[in-house]
Amino acid sequence: MPQALPNLKDLDPPRLRERLAAGGVAPYRADQILAWLYARGVDDPREMTDLALDLRERLAAEWRTRALETAVVRRSADGTRKAVLRAADGAQIESVLIPDDDRVTLCLSTQVGCPLACSFCATGAMGFTRNLTTAEIVDQVCRMRETLGPGERITNVVFMGMGEPLLNLPAVLRAIGVLVHPRAFALAGRRITVSTAGLVPKIRPLLEGAPVNLAVSLHATTDALRDALVPLNRRFPLAALLGELRSLEAISPRRPVFFEYTLLGGVNDAPADAERLLVLLRGLPSKVNVIPVNPHPGSSFRAPAMDAIDRFLGVLARGGMTVTLRRSRGADIDAACGQLAARAEGGSRTPSPNR
Ligand code: SAH
Repeated sequence: MPQALPNLKDLDPPRLRERLAAGGVAPYRADQILAWLYARGVDDPREMTDLALDLRERLAAEWRTRALETAVVRRSADGTRKAVLRAADGAQIESVLIPDDDRVTLCLSTQVGCPLACSFCATGAMGFTRNLTTAEIVDQVCRMRETLGPGERITNVVFMGMGEPLLNLPAVLRAIGVLVHPRAFALAGRRITVSTAGLVPKIRPLLEGAPVNLAVSLHATTDALRDALVPLNRRFPLAALLGELRSLEAISPRRPVFFEYTLLGGVNDAPADAERLLVLLRGLPSKVNVIPVNPHPGSSFRAPAMDAIDRFLGVLARGGMTVTLRRSRGADIDAACGQLAARAEGGSRTPSPNR
């Protein structure tokens, strides 16, 4: 069965070089293979024409090169695209492509489901199945690139899809190694953002392992409320989280922490919440991204009225905080923050060639 073969895309650039060297192949061949797999999007080793014929044959016989097939692509009226992607074991995940004025941001998933069970999140409500492999993380880029229009290219990558990236850190770091490699996707680290719900012990290893931006899903300014919204807070409360963030050398005014704050009407949207947020973040290079909650079936949270949102933003802005209101994108196709759940959907299936 081809499924039983290991996947070439599980190897990050250093491991690919090692494996080739172990098989007597010059390590520079790794750069050629990376260029085919990622820069050009060619999966069949037999088409990698600048490799020796016997190497092409060997790669084709010994490795798989695809990890995901596109099950469904849905397009939002605002240009956002969401794809349901299917892994070899039948697991389904979602990736979202968000075109904006001058950028195209790809939102990647890192787990099938999520174990953190944040109370307002659709992914959390579906429970946890498994971590994605490195190949499954990078293949999301390959599949989503196939949905680009002429002249479009992916300029930014955010690890803000399904799952908690820091619970799958080794695979995430290897995937970032592919994203930033000049012969692969050649993205600058500052164009990549990894978001965490606050898995404190893994934040430093992330930033030591990859030159990326850090986003932290905060959502509350007291432990009592955050315990209820983000159960992970019971293990790593606000003082531990913010203390760790303050200790990081990688964080600077040039590279602030991006805090996500999902606004829940009547729950965390009072001016007093904004005041406490200013106090909590004092002295820590920060930007706050306010996201009015997106509804999903099974959640009773509602977005605040516009005047409550304005009041909240006003308090932060007057306090000197850089704050942005994230417009909800793709909500009509359930592609917005917290709406990813890879519900089994009807729609056209593309055939699944093995490579
Ligand atoms: N597990 C990581 C990565 C997911 S990022 C993390 O929590 O950071 C997805 C972001 O969308 C998180 O900030 C999450 O809290 C937020 N979110 C989840 N459900 C939402 C909803 N219904 N409306 C708006 N934002 C939501």
